Amino acid sequence: MRIDIITLFPEMCEAVMSESIIGRARKSGAIEVNCHQLRDYAFDKHRRVDDAPYGGGMGMVMMAEPIALCFEDICRKVEARPHFIYMSPQGKTLTQDKLKQLAEYQNVCLLCGHYEGVDERLIEEYVDEEISIGDYVLTGGELPALVLADSLSRMIPGVLSDDECFEQESHYNGLLEYPQYTRPSVWRGKEVPPVLMSGHHKNIENFRREQSLVRTAQKRPELLEKSDLSQEERLALKNRFFGK
Ligand code: SAM
Repeated sequence: MRIDIITLFPEMCEAVMSESIIGRARKSGAIEVNCHQLRDYAFDKHRRVDDAPYGGGMGMVMMAEPIALCFEDICRKVEARPHFIYMSPQGKTLTQDKLKQLAEYQNVCLLCGHYEGVDERLIEEYVDEEISIGDYVLTGGELPALVLADSLSRMIPGVLSDDECFEQESHYNGLLEYPQYTRPSVWRGKEVPPVLMSGHHKNIENFRREQSLVRTAQKRPELLEKSDLSQEERLALKNRFFGK
């Protein structure tokens, strides 16, 4: 997958996307990430990319043309037109299911807004969807774009090693992950559940499934509605948490 990020702060995006698992995945070629300085597409000598809002009011608005030019430039460099996403508090909230859909694209392009946002005509003309990372407002779209780019990258084959597999993790199958433990087996008097030390794979699998169900019911009961549970599991949870 190729991810292009259009931003006023490419160094910030580059720094985050160069570390750890994502940095290694870029080096190995499992993903390609390009951070574009929007000011390179400005057309005055001050490299301005924003102007005052029509109708008056506070703040500045990002102009359509530099963004259009930058996106068109990216389009010329790739085979398939990137799926163009504007990071926006007005978009649908990012979920693991949305990431599964996005992982199907060959190219995605993320637009980071700033100030009061982006000229609406650019959104109408080019943006395929708006995505939010939650119902709160940040100063810019860089952190949201990095959240999306990171969580999307780790679903691309070759980014995670087998032992970091994402399919076991919270939200992938609609449940929260089971609790994790590591050495020492007794920490300040607290023991690791004995089944995890038994070496009995089936019992460990059953224990983890049960824990996954129990903690989803305890922490995020609303997730259970949509998750893929057997009749037996639903009944057991109902009896345990919601009375007989
Ligand atoms: N005036 C806009 C509004 O009320 O909808 C908010 C603009 S915000 C201060 C500046 C930029 O930060 C946005 O254009 C967007 O790119 C980004 N941003 C802020 N909060 C976000 C969120 N929750 N999810 C995604 N992007 C966000």
